Amino acid sequence: MNLLPQHTAQNKYRLNIGSFAKIIWHQIKELIWPTTCGACGQIIAPLPNHNTSALCPACYHKLTIITPPICQHLGTPLPYDLGKEAHSPAALASSLHHISRVRTASLYKGTAQTLVHNLKYRNMPQLAQLMATLMRQNFNALVTDKSILVSVPLHPVRLWQRGYNQAELLCHQLENYSGCIHYPALKRIKNTAPQVGLTKQQRQENLQNGFKLAPQFIGLVTGQNVILVDDVFTTGATAQACAHQLHLAGARTVDLAVFATVPLA
Ligand SMILES: [Zn+2]
Repeated sequence: MNLLPQHTAQNKYRLNIGSFAKIIWHQIKELIWPTTCGACGQIIAPLPNHNTSALCPACYHKLTIITPPICQHLGTPLPYDLGKEAHSPAALASSLHHISRVRTASLYKGTAQTLVHNLKYRNMPQLAQLMATLMRQNFNALVTDKSILVSVPLHPVRLWQRGYNQAELLCHQLENYSGCIHYPALKRIKNTAPQVGLTKQQRQENLQNGFKLAPQFIGLVTGQNVILVDDVFTTGATAQACAHQLHLAGARTVDLAVFATVPLA
């Protein structure tokens, strides 16, 4: 008696029922919660997996994705390919000595700026998946077999107000992609005033002694290549303050992965 063909047919039948139910559920979800552009909110064609946010064609074209050639220190685009050790004038003038390399998906303008704003201030944590996907290519250049991820923390009061830490959301997505472990090793101990509108020196003073390493993570950071993760790189003052604490704890190197960067003047 050969049971195999009958069982195979039953399994195939169950699979077809399962696939059919998934398609129907997908259609119902599209009717109730249609896929919308993460930047402008316009309804767009649904994606096959229906799990991620997406961009409409107009917003996608207003996204400046960074591709080589790039500055090896700041990760910003260069007009010419000047070789593997090429540094931009801004990198040569910068005092970002606690950070080895910055890698970023996009320049902070147009759609990238809108995505950051929506993620942080319009209660759209689901955008982290799309933004981390866009970060992935340049982020991969930082990953080694000794890499760990550390997110730039929010002060507990700010975290309570927002409900989530946008840098931690990006970190979780990058953890899934890369397999690098995320350690929430840093704590923000000063609820500093918003950094927008401050000069570089004012930002540094604002952040002085603003972070500390949680004692239970000290041994885990020692000797590791830390990839610090944040949403935006502006003057680098926040990243510098975090990286300083990580170096004090014995981190071998500290790199920075961000979604968008405002090039240093
Ligand atoms: Zn759009």
